[in-house]
Amino acid sequence: MSEKKVYIIPCSGIGKVFGSIGRKTAYIVVNELAKDKTNLECLPLIVKGKKEVIEAIKENKVIALDGCPLKCSYNDLMEAVGKVDAHFLTTDIVKENRDLKPEPSIIPVGENTKQLSIKLAEKVAAEVDKLLEKNMERDD
Ligand code: SF4
Repeated sequence: MSEKKVYIIPCSGIGKVFGSIGRKTAYIVVNELAKDKTNLECLPLIVKGKKEVIEAIKENKVIALDGCPLKCSYNDLMEAVGKVDAHFLTTDIVKENRDLKPEPSIIPVGENTKQLSIKLAEKVAAEVDKLLEKNMERDD
């Protein structure tokens, strides 16, 4: 049985609700939906070149969550780690759910923002299972 984990790395977006969706999504995945299968790590620490973290991500799987098309998490991971196993944009979940317009409030986030984060977290958790499954197939 594989012991591998999936690292969840949200971007550092703090000024807009799209960054909040990414962060909230990461918390739901790591603390609820894919607990024991995932680890949360801090993007600035990776950018700073923290060796242990970069090595751990290289040996495991990693999902980038970004709050806009500038894709800071994806691009920084590619530069520091050299790979990203899956990538999600919070703007996509907003486009897919036009009835749930995210409220502009960041603290606290609004009800629609919470719902969007749950929806995105469900997708990310499904991807976690897929990545770990693929990894187990390779181990067999
Ligand atoms: S991806 Fe967009 S929202 Fe996230 S840190 Fe970069 S600029 Fe900010």
